[in-house]
Amino acid sequence: MRALVTGAGGFIGHHLVRALKAEGYWVRGVDIKQPEFDATDADEFVLLDLRRWENCQRAVRGLGRGAEVYNLAANMGGIGFIEHNKAVIMHDNVLINVHMLEAAREAQVDRFLYTSSACIYPLYKQQTPDVTPLREADAYPADPEDGYGWEKLFSERQCRHYFEDHGLETRVVRFHNIYGPLGTYDGGREKSPAAICRKVAMATDGGEIEVWGDGSQTRSYCYVADAVEGVRRLMRSAHREPLNIGTERLVTINDLVDIVATIAGKRVRKRHLAGAPQGVRGRTSDNTQVRAVLAWEPAVTLEDGMRRTYTWIEEQLGVRAITR
Ligand code: NAD
Repeated sequence: MRALVTGAGGFIGHHLVRALKAEGYWVRGVDIKQPEFDATDADEFVLLDLRRWENCQRAVRGLGRGAEVYNLAANMGGIGFIEHNKAVIMHDNVLINVHMLEAAREAQVDRFLYTSSACIYPLYKQQTPDVTPLREADAYPADPEDGYGWEKLFSERQCRHYFEDHGLETRVVRFHNIYGPLGTYDGGREKSPAAICRKVAMATDGGEIEVWGDGSQTRSYCYVADAVEGVRRLMRSAHREPLNIGTERLVTINDLVDIVATIAGKRVRKRHLAGAPQGVRGRTSDNTQVRAVLAWEPAVTLEDGMRRTYTWIEEQLGVRAITR
């Protein structure tokens, strides 16, 4: 089997390439940049800017019928990045996704996977920390996260229409906060689990870290190995509607800081930044449908996953300090 993974230089793409290789696939990875933290396992890694149509054609060239396309490439980041870069995010990601879908259709590949997000869920359903878990059917009437979420919802629709009008088998996953080693942990695009690990790793015992908002906003977090397993099951399934991939364990940001501080063996004081970006007040996944359709259940606990993530980020910070 042959597979193309776009965004293979990024966090989830890197882990997905590794999983596909372990299953015996021949894999082409494509990204606009080289993988940052570890060498890729892909058989072929091509640097391409997928906003451009001719590069999307190059990305699928020679894959042959029966190939699978996993389209993960996106201009994205944590809440601080997506709140301040709406125009460029919509511009880049619309171009990547409309071109990649059309290139996949033209090349007559077997299946196309699109990575959507919990950010497509309506803001009016996420206004309290004790939020009702989000079911796939909650997506409409639409009121997604501005910019990033609107593009995701648009591309979900485009996937659906490519099946209806062209017969391209599309699969859509809605990720809820995926975290783990090899994800961005600084520079402005990092998401809350990695940012908290970095801050705690850099704090002294008894020191203080900044927490965005009052810290009582809630989320659920899914370890990357579980997310990749969910993606693989979805790709093999006959399910054409979007599916949640996340966990159902709701925690506050303050809880997450405490979990990481315990892992680090440090006492940490929190300084809350009221004006910082925080996103919705509460968000978590309802996994009823994914459980029924894929028999998928996340296996890694938040404590275990955060321990692996913290250990990796701490190591990275150590290496960086030595090489500077
Ligand atoms: P990431 O930023 O680590 O990976 C995305 C990759 O896309 C990057 O390596 C980036 O260089 C590449 N890319 C950006 N613009 C490109 C272009 N013009 N041409 C080619 N490559 C380009 O992000 P990730 O966390 O691995 O996310 C993968 C996918 O999953 C994305 O589509 C993202 O929106 C989606 N998603 C992720 C999460 C999460 O929690 N990580 C949640 C919801 C959805």
